[in-house]
Amino acid sequence: MPKTNYKDLEKKLTMQKRNAWEVWDEKTKQSAFKFSEGYKKFLNKSKTEREAVSSSIELARQSGFKDMAAVKSLKAGDKVYAVNRDKNLFLAKIGKKPLGRGFNMVMPHIDSPHLDLKVVPLYEDESLAFLKTHYYGGIKKYQWPTIALALHGQVYLENGKKVEINIGEKDSDPIFMITDLLPHIDRHGAPGAKVELRDVQGEDLNLVVGSIPVKDEKVKEKVKLAILEYLWNEYGMKEIDLASAELHAVPCEKARDLGFDRSLISAFGQDDLICAYAALMSIIESKVGEKTQILAMVDREEIGSAGNTGANSYYLETFVSDLSELVDGEDDLDHVYKIFAKSQAISADVTAGLDPDYKDAFDVRNACRLGFGLAIEKYTGHGGKYSTSEASGKFLRGLITLYNKNKDIIYQLAGGMGKIDKGGGGTIAKYLANRNMEVIDAGVPLFNMHAPLEISSKADLYCAYLAYKTFIEN
Ligand code: MN
Ligand code: MN
Repeated sequence: MPKTNYKDLEKKLTMQKRNAWEVWDEKTKQSAFKFSEGYKKFLNKSKTEREAVSSSIELARQSGFKDMAAVKSLKAGDKVYAVNRDKNLFLAKIGKKPLGRGFNMVMPHIDSPHLDLKVVPLYEDESLAFLKTHYYGGIKKYQWPTIALALHGQVYLENGKKVEINIGEKDSDPIFMITDLLPHIDRHGAPGAKVELRDVQGEDLNLVVGSIPVKDEKVKEKVKLAILEYLWNEYGMKEIDLASAELHAVPCEKARDLGFDRSLISAFGQDDLICAYAALMSIIESKVGEKTQILAMVDREEIGSAGNTGANSYYLETFVSDLSELVDGEDDLDHVYKIFAKSQAISADVTAGLDPDYKDAFDVRNACRLGFGLAIEKYTGHGGKYSTSEASGKFLRGLITLYNKNKDIIYQLAGGMGKIDKGGGGTIAKYLANRNMEVIDAGVPLFNMHAPLEISSKADLYCAYLAYKTFIEN
């Protein structure tokens, strides 16, 4: 009997986590760096879901995608887009087979945790004017005071006019800030006790917006009135218009390279714009496939995907029905659900990267690492796999086999986020699974997820792009 070479056997039988930077040659590394330049530009123009829709349309139109509403019929190779309420963008690249044979879809979300203005936000206290906010999505509240914030969004005036607001992005713009107490008088217990973290409450997240009063003794709230006078002169707004305004407070900081080697990116909104950009570029640059390719950018994921622009909205049915009418000449709902049953999707969302400073929160064997490629998660959820879908073994195995054919697609396999029973998180996968589609979660691991600035690896961004492209083409 020949002696077994256990080194070879180990290589053949065991699963190793692979660092993309170690596997890739110089050319692929440079491609990844180049790809991240476009991503940073995209991030800086896309701090709200509306902005993500318009900057994505711009890129799609540049590469020949046409407004689906202006199209009479569709054939293989045609490229179209459709917008829902300025907050969803769906793209399709028509395949060679009828749509009735199913489609390949990638669905990222384009909303990110941030602060919304309250319905009645403006008030005055101790000769300062403030705007009250209501946090959107899961945030650690203490992370938001003392950072520079910008206001983005729109206001609808009495005369029907819509006013776009974007203050705090240009160097010459003013910024806004939530305050915090100095450490000197924030000690708990005996004098000299250590400074303890103040438990910042939702009602503490108030933006300072001004301090000069109007000069009139008869007016009670002089600073508040001065702010209203400014808003009236600048935008034609009254206090009531703040109620119907859609204004987000978001970090002013631009996307930046992080680290001596520039391998990482720091930016606001990478959950989930990193997957959204990778998916957008994948459908822009994909080859026409047998099956139709769809990119669906959804909103409201951070607050449960409910609402007419979330993954749970029937807009997906409407879009597929419209597409089916233009491709197959059939638009009834029964046909749409038959298409869903033959379709497969990637729920493209970020996951937690294994942070060495907080290792005890993770099962290190089932955790994803920054730089180790696309994180493919068989399931997400919390506790006993609550409130989640789980990809079928067959679908997952097929995806792995597909990715193994391209040596530059580095991926890592995981399930759940963090240790069992220590928390968790959901994605939109279940809403697609409920529609009887095959679906799996695959995205990019981040540090600081949901913080004002999140960290990603350029390697993982590029792997996500390559992987989404390969998935929709096949
Ligand atoms: Mn997400
Ligand atoms: Mn999130």
